Amino acid sequence: TSASDRNVILVTGGSGLVGSALKYVIEHEPLGSPYGKRQDEEWIFLSSNECDLRDIAQTRQAFEKYRPRKVIHLAARVGGLFANMSSQHTFLRDNLLMNDSVLQISHEMGVEKVVSCLSTCVFPDKVTYPLTEEKIHTGPPHPSNFGYSHAKRLIDVQNHAYHDQFGDQFTSVIPTNVFGPGDNYNLESAHVIPGLIHKCYLAKENGTPFVVFGSGKPLRQFIYSRDLAKLFIWVLRKYSDIDPVILSVAENDEITIREVADAIVEAMGFEGSVKYDTSKADGQYRKPASNDKLTKLMVESGSAEFEFTPFKSALQESVNWFLANYDKDA
Ligand code: GDP
Repeated sequence: TSASDRNVILVTGGSGLVGSALKYVIEHEPLGSPYGKRQDEEWIFLSSNECDLRDIAQTRQAFEKYRPRKVIHLAARVGGLFANMSSQHTFLRDNLLMNDSVLQISHEMGVEKVVSCLSTCVFPDKVTYPLTEEKIHTGPPHPSNFGYSHAKRLIDVQNHAYHDQFGDQFTSVIPTNVFGPGDNYNLESAHVIPGLIHKCYLAKENGTPFVVFGSGKPLRQFIYSRDLAKLFIWVLRKYSDIDPVILSVAENDEITIREVADAIVEAMGFEGSVKYDTSKADGQYRKPASNDKLTKLMVESGSAEFEFTPFKSALQESVNWFLANYDKDA
């Protein structure tokens, strides 16, 4: 089997936060937009319901069905700080298996390009900031998510090995903290923004305090899922390195967890009290990443017009999505 004559782009993790944002952008960008669907492209969004990518036989079946020319590999076991801390082995093994299946089957079927998704938590815990692409392997990751981090770092190692031995064009991107419509709002496993949106909603409904975990002092760079989706499309079309590229807002666009909580209070119209539970972990204090490589390459490739959505508008869109989709009986 080989890639089909059709220009099929297969997105794994197609129903997740970034996958659904990609679908949105592909369907909604106006004709002629550099981030819209091209006429000859056929986008397939694969979800875990259809195929368990930890199983290489199932993965082969799905790839034989769609015969993709290009793959965006988003499928992963992901979770916030607290989920990672409680299941290191699951995060390690599920991700190792999925990445191995997707890359190996892509290799066997002659897929022209694979773009996989890493995360800034793959970086060493002890590192000089800002994070830049070449620092991934320079020391152990933060202990709070070492399972996930090592599995994700290995994607970069795999990409180089496939390129070195076979010339495969397998690459990866490193987004900072992503949020947006269709996020995981499960209180046990959510990342900070969806977790706090859900908690603020419940506090408002029940007339209880809105409890934020930790001190509120840690800093993060947040990227809106629909902005990230556009950047993925840019990478697919215009980025040719094997090494990863960081997809992030600028280094000085870090915000504190307290600012996030305040913005959620405002977007939600919450009038009760906000409490900080300092018995809960803060995780890494900050991990600012540089987007210099991205901005330089975007300018060079004629994509200098790209703009990030302002944080507050993106947050409001995410809150609105949550309110429209929240199932009170679930
Ligand atoms: P991280 O960037 O990998 O650490 O991932 P998170 O999205 O889980 O962000 C964690 C930061 O937000 C930590 O400083 C947490 O203490 C803080 N935080 C505050 N409230 C919450 C919450 O309800 N859920 C989560 N996941 N984090 C929270």
